[in-house]
Amino acid sequence: MEENLANHLRVRFAPSPTGNLHMGGVRTALFNYIFALKYKGRFILRIDDTDRARSKKEYEDAIADDLRWFEINWDEFYRQSERTFIYEKYLNSLKKNGLVYECFCTEEEILKSKEIAVRSKKPYIYNGRCANLSSGEKEKLSLSFKEKGLYPSVRLNIAQVLRMAPSFNSIEFNDAVHGHLSFNPKLIGDFILKTEDNRFAYNFASIIDDYDLGITHVIRGEDHISNTPKQILILKALGKEPPAFAHISLLYGKDGKIMSKRDAAANIQYYKEKGYLPEAILNYLVVTGNTFTIHEYRNGKKEIFEKEIFSDISEMAELLDIKKAKGSGAIFNEDKLRHINERLLAGMPAGKLIKILTEKFQAGDALKKLQETYGESIYVEIIDFLKNEFKTVKEILKEFDIFFDGFNIELDGIKYDAGLKTALLNNLRNTEDFGEKSTKNIIKETASENGKTVKESYETLRLFVTGRLDGPSILKIIKFLGRDRVVKRLSV
Ligand code: GLU
Repeated sequence: MEENLANHLRVRFAPSPTGNLHMGGVRTALFNYIFALKYKGRFILRIDDTDRARSKKEYEDAIADDLRWFEINWDEFYRQSERTFIYEKYLNSLKKNGLVYECFCTEEEILKSKEIAVRSKKPYIYNGRCANLSSGEKEKLSLSFKEKGLYPSVRLNIAQVLRMAPSFNSIEFNDAVHGHLSFNPKLIGDFILKTEDNRFAYNFASIIDDYDLGITHVIRGEDHISNTPKQILILKALGKEPPAFAHISLLYGKDGKIMSKRDAAANIQYYKEKGYLPEAILNYLVVTGNTFTIHEYRNGKKEIFEKEIFSDISEMAELLDIKKAKGSGAIFNEDKLRHINERLLAGMPAGKLIKILTEKFQAGDALKKLQETYGESIYVEIIDFLKNEFKTVKEILKEFDIFFDGFNIELDGIKYDAGLKTALLNNLRNTEDFGEKSTKNIIKETASENGKTVKESYETLRLFVTGRLDGPSILKIIKFLGRDRVVKRLSV
């Protein structure tokens, strides 16, 4: 699959705008994106909006925004709703060669056949009734459909396609992930290319676009494996060669069920709100399912280890081996994501984090306020401090509050030692040096002067400065806040 790909590879991510982007979708987009990056190819975003009733522009916009948030940037963009003339052209060519026919079966009739199939525990295959209508029957049915304002659907005539290409009695392809797959075309049944509500069916529009847009590799979820023989048949009927296919594993939730658009845990918005970095999510999505088990020689010995953190997306691209995107084990585990997020935050330069907080988490105003309050160098020190203390962006942003002058501490109902607090106030007010060493001594000394433990002294200080009894180093926090703010908070 991967020979001689440089510079001519074309892949596409083809979401249907019938809902928001979900984790499985991001994973598919990402594999396509890094595959294109690896081979210097082009990554195409195609909006599959042939289903006019369920497709919404707001979902299209939301999907595009989410991809931008992840910095999965596309080189070309297409909307299927704007390409019907192309599908029409290919359909006409099939018509001309007698490879399709109009079908007048009603929805109820099809449903009935499906029920019978279920009852007799057999797969449903269209019975081909309309393939052999006499011209008289056809005329009659056509007229009655017209009167009711209905359209006949259009089906591929598989028997005719096979007659045209007799060697094609088995549909075979080498899937880059699943290996060699073969399907019996006779078990597929004449399927619909254009529906009774006059829109192009997914299988037709999708493979026509893949062909027409010069897609070289179709990388998508393995739930589409069963569509692939149908799509290959369509191309065969047109005398065209199919692209390469790679069907990657789906994501499973903790319950072992496939994650879908309907799962809250699959919703990107949920992870944005919880403050996960886009690059942490991408890191997690490529490593889940052991896709990135790396073999490496360490100290002269071959070792296998799981790559967990990538320096950036191009490193992912470099190490990608699509063959490993196999089915088992791609279980979405938020704890692992959180762990990756924590590691990425800790290792991130403050400047980069500031940029991400501004551009991707709408924290520009809060950052500006922090910068204006403390001046550039302490501001950067605060960011550096917080990113090592917290696991998510949300926790960091929440902690900003304690650095602002208007910070309000709620002490209603909380017990504290008023004498110790006043002693801390007086001792800290009078110290010249507000460095960590000096304040540490003051806290200790104040405790012993007042017959209290050092722990009580710390807790009292922390309570009045941050409103909480625990959190990151209070010595560092008061150093950043400076004496005036600390004194003010202890003076309430
Ligand atoms: N619109 C289809 C989907 O969202 C695309 C499948 C494909 O990649 O062919 O599942």
